[in-house]
This record gives sequence, C-alpha cells and structure tokens, in this order.
Amino acid sequence: MEPGDDEAGLAVSIFEKSCLYCGARFRVLAPHGQQGDHREEYACPECGKEYQVDASVEPEVQLLQPRRDGKNDRYQETMF
Ligand SMILES: [Zn+2]
Repeated sequence: MEPGDDEAGLAVSIFEKSCLYCGARFRVLAPHGQQGDHREEYACPECGKEYQVDASVEPEVQLLQPRRDGKNDRYQETMF
C-alpha cells in the first residue's frame, strides 16, 4: 500500500439525464463513500428542477446540452 492510495475504495456513479421540465441534458456524478449512501438532491443546471439520487455527498452536475423548450423560467414546485 502506497500513501495516498485511500481513494481506491471510492466509486462514482456517472449517468446522463434529460430534464423532464425543460429538456436540458446533463451528466450527474454521484460519489459513493464508505459511510454508505443516502438520498441526495441535485438540480437541473438550466431550470433548477430538483431530482434525487443515492450518494454519499451532494452530486456534481455538468451541463451537456442547453434546454430545448425556448423559455428561460425556473422550475417551481409551488407558486409564491
Ligand atoms: Zn431543467
């Protein structure tokens, strides 16, 4: 075992998703740690709609394709 090898036990789930609300396409990187996974939230980078995935910490989101609905509003679960 070399020093600095402690990353070997960590895994990252990487998947791509299309936003149900605005049609943007993005990649989600969900890390898994030794402490176990729990429900983490991530948001569409274009409209902010929230999704959930099992991960150890907050997932990273990378935009792949801009939204396709031609609008620029933000997704809202509830109106103020
Ligand atoms: Zn969206």
